[in-house]
Amino acid sequence: MAEAGEMVARTFQKIAPMIEPGVTTQEIDDAVRDSILDLGGKALFLGYHGFPAHSCISVNEEVVHGIPGSRQLKSGDLVSIDIGIESSGFCGDSARSFLVGEPAEETLNVLTVCRAALARGIEGAVPGNTLCGLISGIEEVIEASGLGLVREFVGHGIGRNMHEEPQVPNFVSPDLEKRDFELREGLVLAIEPMVNGGGAGVKTLKDGWTVVTKDGQVSAHCEHTVAITAEGPRVLTLGPGESWPPLPEAVGQ
Ligand code: MG
Ligand code: MG
Repeated sequence: MAEAGEMVARTFQKIAPMIEPGVTTQEIDDAVRDSILDLGGKALFLGYHGFPAHSCISVNEEVVHGIPGSRQLKSGDLVSIDIGIESSGFCGDSARSFLVGEPAEETLNVLTVCRAALARGIEGAVPGNTLCGLISGIEEVIEASGLGLVREFVGHGIGRNMHEEPQVPNFVSPDLEKRDFELREGLVLAIEPMVNGGGAGVKTLKDGWTVVTKDGQVSAHCEHTVAITAEGPRVLTLGPGESWPPLPEAVGQ
């Protein structure tokens, strides 16, 4: 899984310099495709329930599952890119949100909160904690910010398949409390908060994929594949020169 995770991170490292005003999301997806091919992995998203691209690219009001196309990035945009790769029969899944050019204060804040929520979730990925304990940390960070916590989409267990049990929502519900359990060494989770600048509401566009905020406000999505180990959380979707927690100069991570 570390091998697959590193391929995802290396792909982010390759595309990061492209994320500038004027580039289209299709051009970014083409670079994702080339990188996955070069690394010898398999794109998990292409053909997944019919998804037509190698990555999900969601700009501004798009929350998740954006389809790459002719949309050009412009200064001030926030672009969330989600990449899944299979290698040697195991999966890695990660999403990074990037700022394009000069972002507005509010846009920067949405991204900061989303990254902080992911960081809290990762901190909670330790043996002895419970799934609800991990999730309540994520929820606390987002609720304290007053921003919108997206409830319709969830993180997940990951292994030989991209989506395995358990589901990892970003909020605790009575239903989740009923099926809570203690986290054990060896469990690997894809933790992925989605944070909206305005209200929590989302809707899916007519293309059947692209999820947008109902109020048109900007949204961020940050995800890592994280192994629970005796030594603490091990973030598997890191590349060369990257560490967890991220160094201040880390791009997108
Ligand atoms: Mg993902
Ligand atoms: Mg995922």
